[in-house]
Amino acid sequence: MPIDPTKPYDDQNIFAKILRGEIPAKTVYEDDHALAFHDIAPQAPHHILVIPKGAYVSWDDFSARASDAEIAGFIRAVGKVAREARFVEPGYRLLANTGVHAGQEVPHLHVHIFAGQPLGPMLA
Ligand code: C5P
Repeated sequence: MPIDPTKPYDDQNIFAKILRGEIPAKTVYEDDHALAFHDIAPQAPHHILVIPKGAYVSWDDFSARASDAEIAGFIRAVGKVAREARFVEPGYRLLANTGVHAGQEVPHLHVHIFAGQPLGPMLA
């Protein structure tokens, strides 16, 4: 069920629980600004989600409210995950579904990283 972007942040969402350590995840990277883990239902040979540590519903919410330090830290973390996983060559895809039309299901910003095969026109 896609999220309703008009609702405030729900701290019981599944990624908030992962951030608090209440639900396990296969973590691949963590720093002050971001946590990265394997998607539970991978849609490519490599499918990683990167989430900010702050409470942001979506890319729209994050880009409007997060501090410059949070934004810089998060974007650097996404790049670092992709580089450390050696996705830069032959390439990878970033995706942040935002709101109902995009089919966003978890109401905590997450950037998908897809890699490991030619990705075609669309994923997720
Ligand atoms: O962009 P969207 O909100 O649709 O993506 C949510 C993603 O979160 C899905 O790819 C789903 O497989 C993943 N997920 C996960 N672990 C969970 C719940 C959802 O990796 N416990």
